[in-house]
Amino acid sequence: MTGASNLYPTADLRARDAAHHFHPFTDTGALNREGVRVITSAEGVWLTDSDGNRYLDGMAGLWCCQVGHGRGEIVDAVEKQMRELDYYNTFFKTSHPPVIALSERLAQLSPPQFNRVFFTSSGSEANDTVFRMVRTYWDLMGKPEKKTIIGRWNGYHGSTLAGTSLGGMTGMHAQGDLPVPGVHHIPQPYWFGEGGEMSPDEFGLWAARELERAIDVLGEGKVAAFIAEPIQGAGGVIIPPDSYWPEVARICRDRDILLVADEVICGFGRLGSWFGSQHYGIEPDLMPIAKGLSSGYLPIGGVMIADRVAEAFIDKGGEFYHGYTYSGHPACCAAALANLDIMVRERLVERVADDIGPYLQQRWKALGDHPLVGEARMVGLVGALELVPAKGDRSRKFAPVGEVGTLCRDISFGNGLVMRAVRDSMIISPPLVLTHEEADELVARAARTLDETYAALKKDGRL
Ligand code: PMP
Repeated sequence: MTGASNLYPTADLRARDAAHHFHPFTDTGALNREGVRVITSAEGVWLTDSDGNRYLDGMAGLWCCQVGHGRGEIVDAVEKQMRELDYYNTFFKTSHPPVIALSERLAQLSPPQFNRVFFTSSGSEANDTVFRMVRTYWDLMGKPEKKTIIGRWNGYHGSTLAGTSLGGMTGMHAQGDLPVPGVHHIPQPYWFGEGGEMSPDEFGLWAARELERAIDVLGEGKVAAFIAEPIQGAGGVIIPPDSYWPEVARICRDRDILLVADEVICGFGRLGSWFGSQHYGIEPDLMPIAKGLSSGYLPIGGVMIADRVAEAFIDKGGEFYHGYTYSGHPACCAAALANLDIMVRERLVERVADDIGPYLQQRWKALGDHPLVGEARMVGLVGALELVPAKGDRSRKFAPVGEVGTLCRDISFGNGLVMRAVRDSMIISPPLVLTHEEADELVARAARTLDETYAALKKDGRL
């Protein structure tokens, strides 16, 4: 941490934020009493706050900043685009060069079954698009009874009505009386938390076959699709056992159910492949994307549509009554194109697979030896530490759930490292440009954070 530079008057910023800003996913009352942290600038993997403190951005913003902060090349591309064509829509038989170039680029970068993309401004909008597209697809196929979409408990697909409904966050469902009808949830493949006495592979098969059991109960003729993240992100970086995805893919194939891989976090190199489904060898029919598509520089998302689905719409004709004012926004497309150029030129995906990924994984997994850590897991550059009260006993958790995670997260900020807490696990998902030295620094700060959390828990008798 560097000393306060006082470039910005923090107290003033905090007061104005508290007076007028209603924050997402926040207890705004509690935040206003505590005072918000104001981030004022960023460069590479480093953030600076209004007091001049520096933090290693272990979350790449919100799992999105693949190429790191402050890339002038993206800024220049956006400026150039905005001077040429600031905005125009893609409705009414019109298009523009950046949306054409980005569509083509995504078709080239994605697995062979994908040749078309529908644009949105966010991952949530992408999943609202999925919801309507899946049901309309089965209407077009003459199977209008196939309407139910199966998701997973503790899955995350956004916070709009369809996103919240497809996701399996019970706290979110409670606000707004969701899910909407026609969504069913099955258990997640969370071996550490829910695997009981089963081996990881036994549990992975069990969790996959919950899909088949649900299809049997609901009726194959009623089920439209299964949606899941290759690795659950917001649910706590839940890495499924190796047995899970092949079995899910088999079930979707055998039972004529569309497979939707939500690639909003896992896409664009996070797992060391362009898309998370490639890491697991599955071939989805739809892939919602966002975040790493533009590294978060401007808001853009979309749905990659496999030929099987796209051709049903195209061949059978008829308008798809769906779209957003900002579908394919020229400036956002320009940002995405510049971001993808950097990713390809700097071989960031390969780097995650062969270099920085294995390097950080080895050091991160060594944190699993800490007395507070029940499991340290990581694939590509996304990982978690499970904080536990009794090492070696997966059945014991801290109570109430979440307090220790929050304490650890606050200590981590104090140590100049952004980690996110989900329940009592600590999550990281750093930019893909992380250097070896920065990886060492990240792990050193995480280790210090674990020591300090452990000491604080010992001191107040919680351990
Ligand atoms: N799907 C997944 C897997 C996500 O992680 C997120 C966001 N964290 C979303 C969808 C929603 O994206 P957005 O916040 O851009 O609406």
